[in-house]
Amino acid sequence: MSTGSGLDSRPIIRPDRDLRFAHEEHPLEALMSRFDYAAERLHLDPGLYKVLRNPEHQVIVSVPVLLDSGETEVYTGYRVIYNSSRGPGKGGIRFRPDVTLDEVTALAAWMTWKCAVVNIPFGGAKGGVVCDPSTMSVGELERLTRRYTSGIIDKLGPDSDVPAPDVNTNERIMAWIMDTYSMHKRHTVNAVVTGKPITMGGSLGRREATGRGCMIVTRAALSRLGIPLQGARAVVQGFGNVGSIAAQMMHEQGMSIHAVSDHTGGIINEKGLDVTGVMAWLKEHRVLEGYPNADSISNEDLMELECDVLVPAALEHVITMKNAERIKARVICEGANGPTSARADKILDAKGVFVIPDILANAGGVTVSYFEWVQDRGGYFWDEDTVNERLEKIMERSFHEVCTMAEQHGVSLRIASYMLAIERVAAVHRLRGMYA
Ligand code: NAD
Repeated sequence: MSTGSGLDSRPIIRPDRDLRFAHEEHPLEALMSRFDYAAERLHLDPGLYKVLRNPEHQVIVSVPVLLDSGETEVYTGYRVIYNSSRGPGKGGIRFRPDVTLDEVTALAAWMTWKCAVVNIPFGGAKGGVVCDPSTMSVGELERLTRRYTSGIIDKLGPDSDVPAPDVNTNERIMAWIMDTYSMHKRHTVNAVVTGKPITMGGSLGRREATGRGCMIVTRAALSRLGIPLQGARAVVQGFGNVGSIAAQMMHEQGMSIHAVSDHTGGIINEKGLDVTGVMAWLKEHRVLEGYPNADSISNEDLMELECDVLVPAALEHVITMKNAERIKARVICEGANGPTSARADKILDAKGVFVIPDILANAGGVTVSYFEWVQDRGGYFWDEDTVNERLEKIMERSFHEVCTMAEQHGVSLRIASYMLAIERVAAVHRLRGMYA
């Protein structure tokens, strides 16, 4: 890959790894090409470009686990700290059979830019263990988690690297990591992970934070575009943690939630869905399928509905060159990571769609993770209103900073987000200088 700086950069993911993305750039490749483009626009110094294009630390550990059957299995675990110039590494740990070092590295880079765009004092990190948790007992999972933690323990710490939940990991697993780390340190260190249960140092408002952040930046975008918030029509793909909370909060702001979907398909009501009723249905039935007060719609058709705001909050690459031309939303708020391909970006740009990019739109979660870490370190816990007010301030400020960057450089909000983030990380590198 060549950049304006004339340097060759090392591709850190294998392009042919995932056949789902055979026709377009893999989302993680798209991340790196957006980084390259933004670095070029910033005229980033070639040396600094090399530094920011490479991970600081990559740890690979063997994780032997005694299975319930009495046999021993050895799993592979990774932890990558991509950049820690602005503060400790921050990023989730995923348990998945197909996780690779390349994927974890690219996701750690992603976290670096996400933390920088909202200007929280964290670097970026990510971890993974190659395993299939659906086939493991609770005891096996606990032993795996504890052994993996002890394998990477030299990197972990409130001052150096702070993991969080990701795919197939949750607050219970965070509690095991925290306990294992604390046992080694001989005292309780709750700030070593975020996404913990509230009773052991988790933050109020964390569960809702990503969806709330989506609502805040959407509200700011509508105001900027002169679209009245009251009655603005929203369509939400994915009705899990991010999508359902975003829909609920947009509804509370007076927006009309026109259609929503999950993996079983979508539901639509021309007059606006009764979001409270949909939430109650989901609580009882676990899926949207069968909800009575709406018509059905496929996930594909849902994406192409006429609306003011489209919130992709499920999967990667749901907006591609195949459907981008038919997207009718005026604003896209990327709740999910990587929902838009690089080629679709160009089409949406040409159509004048206002895309609030993932690294900004869904940064509410990591922002409240930062609040959790701050509260743990101070040993003083905030009420939920304080958490929400501080989140709102950071999301609104970041949104406006990205818009200003976009205007100054004549680039999309996505490229502006990367430029803002890269500039912040680069500025710290310049000030700190190079330790030789
Ligand atoms: P989740 O598992 O709670 O919800 C995912 C939702 O997507 C579910 O409703 C599921 O049914 C739906 N879905 C799955 N396959 C689908 C398909 N083919 N079509 C339509 N819907 C489908 O996950 P989440 O935590 O809400 O995360 C959603 C996205 O947001 C992911 O990309 C995640 O990386 C990103 N994200 C989450 C957070 C967070 O704090 N939870 C933070 C940042 C980014």
